[in-house]
This record gives sequence, C-alpha cells and structure tokens, in this order.
Amino acid sequence: MNGGGILVVSAPSGSGKGTVIGKLLTVNPRLSLSISYTSRRPRQGEREGVHYYFVSRERFDDMAKSGEFVEWDEYQGDCYGTSKAKINEILARGEDVVFDITIKGAYAMREHFPRAALVFLLPPTMEELERRLRNRGTETEEKILGRLKEAKREINSLERFDYYIVNDDVSLSAEKLNAILTAHKSRVCADEAQAILKLIAG
Ligand code: 5GP
Repeated sequence: MNGGGILVVSAPSGSGKGTVIGKLLTVNPRLSLSISYTSRRPRQGEREGVHYYFVSRERFDDMAKSGEFVEWDEYQGDCYGTSKAKINEILARGEDVVFDITIKGAYAMREHFPRAALVFLLPPTMEELERRLRNRGTETEEKILGRLKEAKREINSLERFDYYIVNDDVSLSAEKLNAILTAHKSRVCADEAQAILKLIAG
C-alpha cells in the first residue's frame, strides 16, 4: 500500500525540468530517477549511468526490437528509451520512481502504469524558455530553433496531463512535485479500496 509511486515529468526543452528533478531527488531520498538509454552523444559533463546510458543507434534499435523498453521515442533526431529492467529494479526496492520523458513517452507510461502521476512543467513565458535554451550553450542554432518549434507545439498537450507546475522557482517547483507524488499515492482507486479496508481491520 502506498509504495512504488510513479511520477512522470514532461516539459518543453528549456523548461528547467532536469534542474527541478535534480532538486527533487535531494529533497526525497526514497525517490530514484529512471535513467534512460539514448543514442544521443553525451554533452559536456554528462556521465554514463548517471545522466543516461549512452548507446549506438544500432544497439538502441536492437534493444527496441527485442522489447527491452517500456516506451521509446525519437526527439530531434536522437532516440530515447525507458528500460523495463531498470524500472523493475527500482520498484522492487520499494522506492518511488521519477521519469524525465517526452510527452509521447508520458502517454505510453500511462498505458503501462495507470496509477502514474503525469506532471507538465511549464516555463514562466515562452520568451524565458528561449532565453534558457540559448544560455545553455550546449546546442547548435539549428538544434535550438528545432527545440523552440517543438516546444510551441508541445505546450498544447497540457490538457492531457494530471498536474501542471509553472517553473519560476526551482526549489518551489521541486516541493510541488514532491507534494504531488505524496498526494497521488494516497488517491483511492476502486480496485484497491477493499484491500485497504481489510488491512486496517486487522
Ligand atoms: P535531452 O537530449 O535534452 O537530454 O532530452 C531530450 C528529451 O528526451 C527530453 O524531453 C527528455 O525528457 C526526453 N527523454 C529522455 N529520456 C527519455 C526516455 O527514456 N523516453 C522518452 N520518451 N523521452 C526521454
């Protein structure tokens, strides 16, 4: 009961999702990040097994074909996938798990885990999002423009999510995410109500 909470966080690139999730992980020690596989090359400072598992496109395609991913998606020419085995390891330890994935990935997670909380992180304004994308200094102009165009399309998916957070303060956004996780785990689902009542009846 109340174990294994699943938090799925999606946002347009540049919304500060990675920073907020990083903060959340320091606030909640019983929460683990699901580390994805990607065919993207590591950015400066990114480490194998910490930010991603970096694999070749061939290896990624093989993994996808052999059903090793719960879901996978292509984003700006690179592939990203969530490993079934890695999620099971986390849930088997009785920990909660947070996913940093694309919007399409979030919908797929809902199919697999109907109790997952889907959270959409929004930038304070689109102007601020562009400023953050440029300040990162990790992408080419072509990639920045691609991500901006994609962001404008992505924000229209908001209505399919359970919660939203406007990210104008990293600590506050992390606190809100943690509160969402706690509350969502305590929702009453019809198929669990009897089991909960039995447990407290002794
Ligand atoms: P980035 O290249 O900035 O690290 O990530 C690009 C996008 O891929 C982000 O929106 C990130 O959330 C998403 N992403 C990372 N891992 C996964 C994954 O396993 N599945 C899906 N669907 N998206 C992912």
